Amino acid sequence: MYDVKPVDFILEKANQEQDISEAEGVTLLQQTNPDLITAIQETADHLRKKQVGDTVTYVINRNINFTNICEQHCSFCAFRRDAGETGAFWLNTDEILAKTKDAVAQGATEICMQGGLNPEAKLQGKSLNYYQQLVRTIKNQFPQLHLHAFSPQEIEFIAREDDISYEEVILTLQETGVGSMPGTAAEILDDSVRKIICPEKLNTATWLEIVGMAHRLGMNTTSTMLSGHIETPQQQIQHLGKLRSLQQQAIANNYPARISEFIILPFVGEEAPKPLRNRVGRDQPVLADTLLLTAVARIFLGNWIPNHQPSWVKLGLAGATEALNWGCNDIGGTLMEEHITTMAGAKGGTCMSVADLQNAIASIQRPYQQRNTLYQKISDHSSSQMKFPGVSVRLP
Ligand code: SF4
Repeated sequence: MYDVKPVDFILEKANQEQDISEAEGVTLLQQTNPDLITAIQETADHLRKKQVGDTVTYVINRNINFTNICEQHCSFCAFRRDAGETGAFWLNTDEILAKTKDAVAQGATEICMQGGLNPEAKLQGKSLNYYQQLVRTIKNQFPQLHLHAFSPQEIEFIAREDDISYEEVILTLQETGVGSMPGTAAEILDDSVRKIICPEKLNTATWLEIVGMAHRLGMNTTSTMLSGHIETPQQQIQHLGKLRSLQQQAIANNYPARISEFIILPFVGEEAPKPLRNRVGRDQPVLADTLLLTAVARIFLGNWIPNHQPSWVKLGLAGATEALNWGCNDIGGTLMEEHITTMAGAKGGTCMSVADLQNAIASIQRPYQQRNTLYQKISDHSSSQMKFPGVSVRLP
């Protein structure tokens, strides 16, 4: 059972940079009084300023989804197709290289690459060989690019297909040129929720095992939450609690890598399969709910995971800009193309220019700064000096 403490007590504790408990986090998420919600927002904004400063970062990157052919059937996914189905795609080497060349011409420092779980993706009988080939396609011609690629679900898929360990998959991909792992496929880290929204996906324990292993093996990851569907406030906070523990574990064990950022991905259901869409009862995220969760995430995680990013694809650029006042310090990437959420009916668009992102940040009188994937400063495109927390997290 949760011990309900007054909101001002909890916010005072947070202001003193103490970690709030899961019960206290739930209390914050359950507030509906506008004055108390404002107090939560102001605390999150204050902590953001204290922990990472005023500067808002962005990354010039390109998303490449190499296939949407997928063996799974997540109930929120409008992206997946069966092989041969209308709309199914599987990019070849030339197409991937053309997209990468275009990204480099636009100043990209990162390629973010994820795809469906395509059981036919095997070279010489091994899935791992296909994934290595994808990495080499990019890294052989553009060694300077950071490859942020392959979710914990893709690691689990490769290991299962090839009957090898997660460790072998991560180490091999790292040696081939993958720089970091997207912390996607987390959805909500609660198996009772996962059974409904992504029953075939890796379970909570396996997600945590793979991400923790990545940190131990020197591969940084991001972290995410798919919010605003069937999950409860308790499940949201327990999810944040698991991410906080994962980061604490990496720090306590002095692992060479960490969680670099936290991203909330609110559910977009407009084109998603009907059963979940009907159960949730709406097609687009509720901005107010996402903003409150954004603030609580800053308060709950900020001592451990300092970088927080909203999703402009899901919230629109105006919504994402507003989230910068609720605890976020990064506006994400240019992406250049986006399919997964757009196919689900998101209205935020599929690409942003650097000027779009800079103007959005400037519109709330905050300075901006280009960063790389690991939150290191890239010297041009700066409007100020900034604190750079990167992924070296302050010890308590
Ligand atoms: S979310 Fe990913 S794993 Fe699930 S069905 Fe869609 S593409 Fe496949």
